[in-house]
Amino acid sequence: MTKLKYILLLLSILGIGYLHADIPLVLAPNGIQKTLPVVKLEEKDYVSLDEINARLCSIYKVEYSEYTDFRVMFFFYGEQFIFLLNSPFYTFKQSVFNMQYPLLQVGANYYVPTTFIMDNLPLHFPGQIQNKKGTLYLPQPKDKSVKRIVIDPGHGGKDPGAVGPNGTRESMINLNVALRLKHLLEQELGLEVLMTRTDDRFVSLGDRTKFANDNKADLFISIHTNASRTNGAQGIETYYLSTKSTTESRAVEALENSVVELYEGAGAKQKYEALDFILMDMLQTEHLEHSNDLATLVQHNLVAGVQAKNRGVKQANFYVLRGAFMPAILIEMGFISNPEEEALLANPQYQDRLAQAIFESIKRFKYNYDRIRLTS
Ligand SMILES: [Zn+2]
Repeated sequence: MTKLKYILLLLSILGIGYLHADIPLVLAPNGIQKTLPVVKLEEKDYVSLDEINARLCSIYKVEYSEYTDFRVMFFFYGEQFIFLLNSPFYTFKQSVFNMQYPLLQVGANYYVPTTFIMDNLPLHFPGQIQNKKGTLYLPQPKDKSVKRIVIDPGHGGKDPGAVGPNGTRESMINLNVALRLKHLLEQELGLEVLMTRTDDRFVSLGDRTKFANDNKADLFISIHTNASRTNGAQGIETYYLSTKSTTESRAVEALENSVVELYEGAGAKQKYEALDFILMDMLQTEHLEHSNDLATLVQHNLVAGVQAKNRGVKQANFYVLRGAFMPAILIEMGFISNPEEEALLANPQYQDRLAQAIFESIKRFKYNYDRIRLTS
């Protein structure tokens, strides 16, 4: 090999090496240095989510949506990113962002463009993640585990809720069970529990949700008892929010909103509408999935705990659950309109058993949830 050829070969290797420059990482505050391998896909620099998982212990999972696209959930620093396969758009904290190049799939692996790592991540975690001249500085992640729960005893004050044939007021039963549940969560799990009311007073539905949001609650539990005109109605059911009925209006709203700014040029509108539809659904899905998980656990434990009729987990557009920025459920602990269930619901021992069953459900939910949220 001539000297010239050798130099050319060396240059080409260096050139390739430069083009495929891996991303240096510094994990603060202990200063551990790692690198994130970069690969070329469609002539752009990409990083595989597997590599991020291996180096930064994030978690991602892929879900098949009811539409034609795949969505890829990516949990990083306790926050969720939702990517859409072959799309440069993703959602983060209820907003839509652009990472310039699409999420790609090669075999079983998913790849994000390096622009996401170097440009977008520092924007999403200001003051935490920094890109200093091509080196990414990552601090210790914040603890995102379930720590603060808002319990919402339904009704109160001028609103007694449903009233049983023997005069039992729903508002009082809800409060009694809620106070028992609060005690268990504080004593057994050391959680911070806030109540939308601690005595017999009126609180509007909007204020209840706002209270949970303002206090940055990790869970919202609304406690109620049921009523029906038919005396024989009985059993327990647990609800979480439904979006099915309003998906269309939500998509229309979003058309008027910020997502429009992400698009340019004529002819993109149709595509935009479809994409927006999916993204808005995805925004809701983040909490709906957890709400469903929690509702399922609560329903199962309550029915088993008090041997009541199982009316199942249901979805409805409850105003008190709408707008809650956390997993949120509404429990109907039995029918106060049914004399037998009214007597049970008014019984302090039965209230203990209800509270215990809800407590066990939240404990299990927290265990499952924290494993994802605590990853660094
Ligand atoms: Zn109620």
